[in-house]
Amino acid sequence: MNSVHQIIYAKWLMTCEPNNKVLENHALIIHDGVIKDILPSKEVSLHYQSNEVHEYSTHAVMPGFVNTHTHLAMSFFRGLADDLSLMDWLNNHIWPAENAWVREEFVYDASLFAMAEMIRSGTTCFNDMYFFLQATARAADVAGIRGRIGITVIGFPTAWAKTSDEYIAKGLEFYAEYKQHPRIGATFAPHAIYTETEATLIKIRDLAEKHNLKINMHIQETADEVNQSMSQTKLRPLRRLNDIGFVSPRLIAVHMTQIDEEDLEIISAQKPQIVHCPESNMKLASGSCPVTTLQKLGINVALGTDSVASNNDLNMLAEMRSAAYHSKLITSNPEALNAYEVLTMATLNGAKALGIDHVTGSLSKNKSADFIAINLDEIETLPVYHPASQIVYAASRSQVTDVWVAGKQLMKNRVLLTLDEGELKKKAHYWFNKINQS
Ligand SMILES: [Zn+2]
Repeated sequence: MNSVHQIIYAKWLMTCEPNNKVLENHALIIHDGVIKDILPSKEVSLHYQSNEVHEYSTHAVMPGFVNTHTHLAMSFFRGLADDLSLMDWLNNHIWPAENAWVREEFVYDASLFAMAEMIRSGTTCFNDMYFFLQATARAADVAGIRGRIGITVIGFPTAWAKTSDEYIAKGLEFYAEYKQHPRIGATFAPHAIYTETEATLIKIRDLAEKHNLKINMHIQETADEVNQSMSQTKLRPLRRLNDIGFVSPRLIAVHMTQIDEEDLEIISAQKPQIVHCPESNMKLASGSCPVTTLQKLGINVALGTDSVASNNDLNMLAEMRSAAYHSKLITSNPEALNAYEVLTMATLNGAKALGIDHVTGSLSKNKSADFIAINLDEIETLPVYHPASQIVYAASRSQVTDVWVAGKQLMKNRVLLTLDEGELKKKAHYWFNKINQS
């Protein structure tokens, strides 16, 4: 008889791998924050005992969502400016607001607030691109969530850094500081090709290789971006990046709503990771990422919300539903992107994109115990013929009851255990009053 830290009984275990297997009446055996075993519930007492037992008898237990593209600290800009085109939205609203307000304290408060929203909707891992990296990391440490924090490099001065070299130097300091952290790490995050010089991108390419870091970048988000590149260089952004050896499995290409045959050839040869952000792309009318075409080429496609200023939430349940509907609509094929495929995009594929699928992204032995429980025994999701269907097409955030990261419980029956909801709301009101009066 083995004594273990936790035993988690579930009505349904959505493993995500192998082959999206759904195990009914099974249990997760957790020890030292790691999934030690998965077995039928009725066999547990023959092998394991624990002082901590959790029964999710009407729940689907699944890997936590991996939100593969966020700008967390923009949470206090939610609803500040809506219904605008990307460049109008950025130039006339978002960048001026960031210029006025984004400082260390703001980033900490707003990131912590975003993490509460993520935990309350079942996200256990994020991939962020913003400024004041240590502030986001401190927030993640407090929240107990897993994340990758981008060394943002953008070709204009902000309160965080003045030059590309300063962005990189500060980012590398952050990388060194968090290198050994069990849950938090760095990626490179040059903002976009239209905000960088080629020389800076080459420097980032070499540093990313040296330190074995992933590189996130907004690429071909809109037709305007492609047109601007064509008129300046006669080349599409992806082609220019490929010409400097930037496109490889190390690259996390975010958005990719403008893909032509030449792009497909590059993608097919170099196998970058792609992050689909359907709600942000639809809201800004940026375009459509052809997910099913990419998947046929064997490309890993993950899912991200983008910031709440262009979405307007960090809701991976909604993002999955939008991804499924969007693919069906643009391909005129109702079989495109089924419920299991989007569940995998929202979990395992995100972990793969970040290079941490040996740690998280599925319920598998020896992976970290990063999982969530969704109560399907509600009016909104009964009856349950297929739990994946209910999760993707019917469940709402309020049905996510419990969230765990690395064997630590972050939410229990909708109550946050690491964060104080009242305090977070006070902070939101405090920053709203400042921003709104300016
Ligand atoms: Zn973005």
